[in-house]
Amino acid sequence: MSEKKAFELTKKEEDFSRWFDEVLFKASILDERYPVKGLYVWLPYGYAIMENIMSVMERLLRETGHKRVYFPSIVPESTLSREFRFIKGFENTIYWITQVGLRKLDERLALRPTSEAIMYEVLSRWIKSYSDLPLRIYQIVPAYRYETKATRPMLRVREITFFKEAHTFHVTFEEAVEQVKLGVDIYKKFYDELLVPYIVVKTPPWDTFPGARYNYDLVTILPDGKALELGSVINFGDLFAKAYDLQYTDRDGKKKYVHTTSFGVSERSLASVIAIHGDNRGLVLPPKISPIKVVIVPIPFKGFEKEINNYASKVYSLVSSSYTCELDLIEDEKPGYKFYKWEMKGVPVRLEVGKSEVEEGSVTVFRRDIMERTRVSEEELLPYLEDLFEDMEEKMREKARRYFESMIVYVEDVESLKSSMQNKLVSFPWCGEKGCALKVEELTGYSMIGYEEDSLSGKSKGCIVCGKEAPHLAWMGRSY
Ligand SMILES: [Zn+2]
Repeated sequence: MSEKKAFELTKKEEDFSRWFDEVLFKASILDERYPVKGLYVWLPYGYAIMENIMSVMERLLRETGHKRVYFPSIVPESTLSREFRFIKGFENTIYWITQVGLRKLDERLALRPTSEAIMYEVLSRWIKSYSDLPLRIYQIVPAYRYETKATRPMLRVREITFFKEAHTFHVTFEEAVEQVKLGVDIYKKFYDELLVPYIVVKTPPWDTFPGARYNYDLVTILPDGKALELGSVINFGDLFAKAYDLQYTDRDGKKKYVHTTSFGVSERSLASVIAIHGDNRGLVLPPKISPIKVVIVPIPFKGFEKEINNYASKVYSLVSSSYTCELDLIEDEKPGYKFYKWEMKGVPVRLEVGKSEVEEGSVTVFRRDIMERTRVSEEELLPYLEDLFEDMEEKMREKARRYFESMIVYVEDVESLKSSMQNKLVSFPWCGEKGCALKVEELTGYSMIGYEEDSLSGKSKGCIVCGKEAPHLAWMGRSY
């Protein structure tokens, strides 16, 4: 097979869905050939990227006082069903264990769809006094939900492999409100570091998770025009605490219910990075999360092999003192093949070292994001790379911002709403009435993604349906 053919992709702009699947496989992220539909094997390279992504998240969580825990993945039905509203959101998607060996179980056991129920039951034994609060914990574990719609790797799955769920416990509702702001802030920083653009919206009350007081979502849009929820921050108030009898003794000696929140993200974070930054050569990874920042490819020259390899090793020692670096010495792959291979994997920088570089004491630096080459002397290489990574982040952020702006549109009347909704996220002034939102859903066939509360207040905008004063900016579109 020719070098080019092995790494050829369907054009992203022609068929995003196919492009996405092909990239996952050819860049060695996932293997979809698993005997259970909706479950995927994570390959070493994909896993390494996810580890880097999760370590960004863990740093942000640790800096804000969240501590890592582990709760088992099996939950008894009696615990899960104590709060019927809890099961309601998941009831059709829960995996049940009903039998062990030949023996039928007296009580069904569930694989965790999320961990509120089991944590609250256990924490009702940990939390005694106001001095035990606030308590902020998180875990990164698989979560099991049997997706009933057509499955898509990373986007609609039947096992969420990297489910980061944080749960927090507070003395008052006001403190939980502050925690939700903190959760949103953590997510904003997280996606800023991943160079993924987003909107932050509040879910309308009629769509809010049963048992929650309110929640915020971070949402982006993929190149096929569908909105992707990137993470959710939920304020439960004391609703769940009441169901699980989660109480503390306050300063005045009185028993009070704990106020709780939760917020989660998953491998959809990586899906958004791939979808937004990738191109027709494959992945384009932000340097911060790329498992390999620099790859060195020696360009063989007959009779000069030893000098080139020695020089490549010297460059490798230099670069690997500062960056995760790989020296590609595979003998039976031609340089052209190696170029395509590392471009597919989205490695930010490739250094090419051949005869003329050896003679000159230089390296050819190739940057993946804009596919450009420059020659740099060996002495200048490290400071050059430092500036390059910074510039790369800046350019990728800017490109993603321009992409995002091309995918969203603001309208002020129903006619332009209908004509401009094709494959975009649409925002418009909204009075806050459910009837008006449903009317727009009916007219467009799209669904409400959420709204920016009071972001138009004082701007004298009229609701797109009823014309009344519209303090909110509503967002609609198709979604995953
Ligand atoms: Zn209205």
